[in-house]
Amino acid sequence: MPKPRALPAQHAEPSVKLSIRGVARLQGRHPWVYRSDITEEKNVPPGAVVRVLDPRGKFLGTALYSSSSQIAIRMISHGSVADLPALVAERIRAAIAYRKENDLVSNTDAYRIVFSEADFLPGLIVDRYNDVVSVQILTQAIDAAPVREAIVKALREDLQPAGILSGIVERVDGRIRELEQLPPRQSGLLWGEKTSTEFNMNGVRFHYDGLEGQKTGAFLDQRENYAAAARYAHGEALDAFCYQGGFALHLSLHPAARCSSVTGVDSSRPALEMAEKNAALNGRELEWIEANAFDLLREYSAANRRYDTIVLDPPAFAKTKRDLEKALGGYKELNLRAMKMLRPGGILVTCSCSFHVSSPEFLKVVAAAAQDAHKSLRIVEHRGAAKDHPILLNVPETSYLQCLILTVSN
Ligand code: SAH
Repeated sequence: MPKPRALPAQHAEPSVKLSIRGVARLQGRHPWVYRSDITEEKNVPPGAVVRVLDPRGKFLGTALYSSSSQIAIRMISHGSVADLPALVAERIRAAIAYRKENDLVSNTDAYRIVFSEADFLPGLIVDRYNDVVSVQILTQAIDAAPVREAIVKALREDLQPAGILSGIVERVDGRIRELEQLPPRQSGLLWGEKTSTEFNMNGVRFHYDGLEGQKTGAFLDQRENYAAAARYAHGEALDAFCYQGGFALHLSLHPAARCSSVTGVDSSRPALEMAEKNAALNGRELEWIEANAFDLLREYSAANRRYDTIVLDPPAFAKTKRDLEKALGGYKELNLRAMKMLRPGGILVTCSCSFHVSSPEFLKVVAAAAQDAHKSLRIVEHRGAAKDHPILLNVPETSYLQCLILTVSN
């Protein structure tokens, strides 16, 4: 029998060594380590599964490596990983079970199945829209062909027996692929034949087209907030930044809502066209206005227009930390205008999906707006994303959405 030989150095398993600060981050249960905290790399190709070592060479766990991102590694296990595709499949099954066992997704056939780090699968997002499942791949390691195959297989095995799967669509974010130095790719079917469908949240119906729209098609993270907003909404309602009508349709159709009229505003015509189609799907006609919400609110408030319910759900104003001051200014202006236009007893539903705007900062800016509007407001509910978007404690990036529901007094 040939004698076992030591592997030549180039076949040694990929590994990275961390600085003390990098180790401290992992000990703090954050899965990311930045490139500046990697002190040594051995045999590490793009997208590698790497052994993570402390400065003395002690094994800390296994991570997914990116050769281009500032986030050089994302931890995937505190132990060894022999087979990444098998681990990914196991984590997908666990994510599905987590939602089922904790009853996180009642009253909907659209929800997030896998939320990246929050489901211990950094770089993978999977959403279900009734019988169409949308997959987003955000890192080099998850983009590897065997991992892709494992994702499709795991989703099929779990969802097909329940008879709820007609298509798995990949939604490609070209900018992210470029940042990750991955070859360009088109969005399209990974399995099955359907890319569009209809889904239902809280009894309200929506169209879904896997190959159109922003994000993965709809804002699933607002699902529970739609129903909460509907409980308090009444009278004349305005949904600024309405996109495809998520809040507006709930304010008009949800059995709890008591709105006499609902107007949706957005600057995107395709979003409004879809909103109109969604309303028709539910047998309703609402008013949709294509406008810059800042200008419209300014104009309406100058003209003394009044509402009983206003929803503000703007896009993330602070995409980076540098944008923070400007973002806070934007939130303040919108909230101030809305507060001025609300009748006593009115409801303000105000959201921020900027991770860089922390919860205390958002509260502060809304409070400053109230001061300038000379109004007293009470917080009826302070909410976050729907429960199928878990927040991983110690990973602030997983907690990005805030939704305040307030009542306005004079
Ligand atoms: N409330 C929506 C999601 C809103 S996303 C839902 O629950 O589905 C933010 C929306 O703001 C997008 O549709 C975008 O087109 C729109 N938008 C961005 N800037 C705008 C502006 N200045 N005025 C009006 N709409 C704007």
